[in-house]
Amino acid sequence: MPNAIVWFRHDLRLDDNPALRAAVEEGFTPIPVYVHAPAEEGEWPPGAASQAWLHHALMALDGDLRRRGSRLVIRQGPSEQVLHDLVAASGATAVFWNRKYEPATQPRDAALKKALREQGLQAESFNGSLLIEPWDIATQQGQPYKVFTPFWRTALTLLRTPALWNAPSRLPPLDDGPGGDALDALRLTPRRGWDAGFWDVWTPGEAGARDALDVFIDGALNGYRSDRDRPDRVGTSRLSPHLHFGEIAPWRIVAELERVRTAANSADMDGYIRELGWREFAYHLLHHFPQTTTKNLNPRFEHFDWAKVDPDSLEAWQRGRTGVPIIDAGLRELWATGYMHNRVRMVVASYLTKHLRYHWLHGAHWFWDTLVDADLANNTLGWQWTAGTGADAAPYFRVFNPVTQAEKFDPKGSYIARWVPELADIPVPARFAPWETPELLAKRGRGYPRHPIVDLAAGRDGALAAYRKTGD
Ligand code: FAD
Repeated sequence: MPNAIVWFRHDLRLDDNPALRAAVEEGFTPIPVYVHAPAEEGEWPPGAASQAWLHHALMALDGDLRRRGSRLVIRQGPSEQVLHDLVAASGATAVFWNRKYEPATQPRDAALKKALREQGLQAESFNGSLLIEPWDIATQQGQPYKVFTPFWRTALTLLRTPALWNAPSRLPPLDDGPGGDALDALRLTPRRGWDAGFWDVWTPGEAGARDALDVFIDGALNGYRSDRDRPDRVGTSRLSPHLHFGEIAPWRIVAELERVRTAANSADMDGYIRELGWREFAYHLLHHFPQTTTKNLNPRFEHFDWAKVDPDSLEAWQRGRTGVPIIDAGLRELWATGYMHNRVRMVVASYLTKHLRYHWLHGAHWFWDTLVDADLANNTLGWQWTAGTGADAAPYFRVFNPVTQAEKFDPKGSYIARWVPELADIPVPARFAPWETPELLAKRGRGYPRHPIVDLAAGRDGALAAYRKTGD
């Protein structure tokens, strides 16, 4: 059997993996390869939490391959060099991979495909991560979409989810195939073990992704539309890191959901699939507006009067010591688990970009380093959307009030109590704005900041004044 290199990247699964499928169906012996090349990710090499996840996900992928008689060959980049070496060493006549959409790696992949083909090899790439690729959808004028609702309306008319594909239970062995580096040589896990708490709540890998989907279908799917905004409940699927690393295909999620569609859960299901649509939209934007990972999509903000960063205030935000309970709860959840609830992400992002008036990149970088689901497309969209500088923007002058957000979405204050235990003895509603009851805070607030780092009204006014200066 001829050999084909299957280059794994953001597709760390076997089922529904079009590159692996092509190798198997075309009669090749797949040589599964992962090349670690963070330097090739430009300004966004994987952050610390992503690296920790990656370590476990690669281990899971190798285990899944070994159970089928194969194994994962791990090498350290440069990618192009490694792949050429592997082709030479294995005599492979084909290289298959699933596409990535980040601006730094797209040109690399295109150049590699060209070079391999020029050598007479079969080099093919596939769609392994999206319901609709960025270039397969456009406005009637042939332009990329910048607004979600029309994007999604059109996307729904174009969606053709592929048939599910289960990887074979046996794969050809790589007995005398190429050797690789030990996973530990990549040094992906943190030395000080701050990620210990992550693995109580997360199981990286394809099996973990499937379990998370099953748990969601049996639980939070029913009631998703109302509970998805409640950080005090398990109201969402928590599939984001699995989707980011490609441990499950989005079309399998859709297919599994459709299998259990009933009149009773139909609206919740559509609401959920629409959220997957935001991910599709984020990739559409990333592909068509690659500069937006660091630059405002809306040029009006080019000369916006961002405040000079006070390192103490930024650190207070990062570590959940701002004195505003819902903000601190979110940032501590992030630090402890590598995840933050979506509603709270919006509130903490609004606080950073509006009350503190810090450039959204300060927040995007922190999220990048600490989220297990850090994803260049989704993170860029999330930050630009919340800051009001991006596509489909909540206008900059719409400032989330963190106190009313907490009252509405954490009405019993239980999310706050969980992540900010200093406040657990302060009853609601005082728990939402403890500086307003200073005696209670002093008596029962055990070490919690006495005042927010920025007065909420003054912060809001400062943001609005800066916004007015941009022109309209
Ligand atoms: P569910 O509600 O179960 O949604 C299912 C899936 O849909 C998610 O896993 C995700 O892939 C997708 N999705 C849901 N909401 C969004 C959204 N608003 N934008 C894009 N895709 C979405 N998501 C990331 O995956 N990585 C990030 O780095 C990221 N950074 C963000 C930064 C900010 C400031 C904000 C406001 C949002 C960010 N999001 C990011 C989007 C969203 O918060 C997460 O996708 C969601 O919280 C993940 O939880 P879940 O899987 O339980 O979501």
